Amino acid sequence: QARRVGRSKWCLHEACPHVPIEEEPSLEADLGQAIARGELTLHYQPYVDIAAGRPVGAEALLRWCHPRLGLLAPDCFVQLAEEAGLIDDIGTWVLHAACHQARTWRQRGIPHLSVAVNVSAAQFNKGNLVSAVASALAASGLEPQALELEITESTVMHDVQAAIGTLRKLKDMGVVLSVDDFGTGYSSLSYLKRFPLDSLKVDRSFVQDIGVDPDHESIVRAIINLAKTLKLKVTAEGVESTEQLRFLLHEGCDRVQGYLFGRPVTSEGLEHLVKQRSLWWTETL
Ligand code: C2E
Ligand code: MG
Ligand code: MG
Ligand code: MG
Repeated sequence: QARRVGRSKWCLHEACPHVPIEEEPSLEADLGQAIARGELTLHYQPYVDIAAGRPVGAEALLRWCHPRLGLLAPDCFVQLAEEAGLIDDIGTWVLHAACHQARTWRQRGIPHLSVAVNVSAAQFNKGNLVSAVASALAASGLEPQALELEITESTVMHDVQAAIGTLRKLKDMGVVLSVDDFGTGYSSLSYLKRFPLDSLKVDRSFVQDIGVDPDHESIVRAIINLAKTLKLKVTAEGVESTEQLRFLLHEGCDRVQGYLFGRPVTSEGLEHLVKQRSLWWTETL
């Protein structure tokens, strides 16, 4: 049976979606206790600025260290958290933990490092995101410019008027705003212009097909051009090969993120990774 194979095998990444949530009826109750029990943790994946030639930030990626099931990736439990009404508390915890971590890095010799936090649709549309962000910034002492929020297209398209209001308040606080997994959802280009955004993140599914599927290459090129037209920065996520990197450099992508530069690691791992290397993209080519 899959779950007997060994925890690490189905904890992270590919193996994760196969966790039979339905067969774990206690998971929801467990998740309700996870924050109090200190079972949630963040891993961090660097993103590299092409012009700067080094990581300028790290994306916080949530993990749940389940006492029996092992380390679970967000695909295993974020949806459950949304359905169970727990995503607000979890999202607030993530914001506080990530801001605190970024502040610590910046005090410990990596002054230029920002942190990016994924915001769930439920949390965004519920209306307390702005105050949660404000309190995380105040509690940690992190400069708002060092916090980036990643929001998906469908999240902002759900209620456009409300979304513009929320984004505007966040922008006024000085927080950096990105659209995550861009290209997979549906967004109206005219609305995109009205949202006070800073950047688009090209979805991994398109990046992965660079060198494989010319249609997806065209989509990547189109998104980069769209971002430039709208005066937004553009990040490519899921960069795994030098071939993909070369294409992205050639097309004028601003930032890159993916296993080629570093997998998600603990906060200590990230600090080590960033301090240890100086030339990030030139040396991989
Ligand atoms: P995302 O924000 O698009 O994050 C990128 C995902 O792709 C991460 O998976 C990351 O580990 C993975 N990845 C990064 N580079 C590569 C690569 O080169 N190749 C491949 N194959 N994969 C790569 P992860 O950590 O399992 O997170 C999955 C999704 O869960 C995230 O997608 C995000 O939507 C969501 N998520 C993560 N943390 C949080 C959180 O704190 N709150 C909420 N609401 N959602 C979160
Ligand atoms: Mg993300
Ligand atoms: Mg993404
Ligand atoms: Mg993604």
